[in-house]
Amino acid sequence: MIQDFTLHTHTNEFDGRNTAAEMIEAARASGFKTIGISNHFIVHPTIKQNPLYEAAVRGGYGQMYSSDFDEALSRFVPHYEELARLQDKNPDIRILRGMEVDYFPTDQWRDGFERVYNILRPDYLIGSAHFVEQGGAVYNVHDMAKATPDVRDQMLEQYWANIIKLAQSGLFNWLAHLDLPKKRGLGMESKWAGVKEEAIVAIVNAKNAIEINTSGYKQVGDQPYPGPDIIKMVAVYRVPVLLSDDAHHISQIAASFETAYDMARQNGIKNFTNLQKILDFSKKSL
Ligand SMILES: [Zn+2]
Ligand SMILES: [Zn+2]
Repeated sequence: MIQDFTLHTHTNEFDGRNTAAEMIEAARASGFKTIGISNHFIVHPTIKQNPLYEAAVRGGYGQMYSSDFDEALSRFVPHYEELARLQDKNPDIRILRGMEVDYFPTDQWRDGFERVYNILRPDYLIGSAHFVEQGGAVYNVHDMAKATPDVRDQMLEQYWANIIKLAQSGLFNWLAHLDLPKKRGLGMESKWAGVKEEAIVAIVNAKNAIEINTSGYKQVGDQPYPGPDIIKMVAVYRVPVLLSDDAHHISQIAASFETAYDMARQNGIKNFTNLQKILDFSKKSL
């Protein structure tokens, strides 16, 4: 087996399709010894003013967005209690409590996050940037795709600056789907190679790992997040790598792991990390 754990998964209390119990059963059936559930932790005061929130409410997953930390806490407390009950019922598979965190680089966010972290004590944190913030409002990759070319480039600059800040924060066990704007075909021109390399250097300096997120094969077509351009840099800098399926449905558990592993090997990746190393990543200030 290429990797006997899967740590980036979502359940139906947030924007996944299946219950945690169903995801655990599917992970066991795929041969995993460990599954981590990593639902979205997204807290921003204006998040519910973005049209994406309305769409999420219509789609039945509005609960993944919180406008303050107590709202997020009220969702994660019962969710983690449920995972603890499921661990008692399923002693043959290790169940970890993770979070995929949207990092907003302000002191206010950090204070709020540290408070909630110390209550919830998650087993690990995935750092992600689904949004950029401009003038107090947040924009996702779909908003970027609709923006004028100038504004779009500003947002992409900011996206990569956020990735650098994510690494520098020292909060995260690894960073998610580095080239996410690719979901809408953005940031793929060669002019972005320099800033991508800067981000990899920041990740190296922070001793962070990155994931190869196989949901890209479904969303983009021929490549995971990140694609071969970044994977080659990751290999040169020997950044530790793990495979993530980012499963939102039982059918996505372990999806394309072999394809992604082969692609990584072909592009020079040797430093596949293991579960213990990933969990041991010490959080500097939490
Ligand atoms: Zn994500
Ligand atoms: Zn995810």
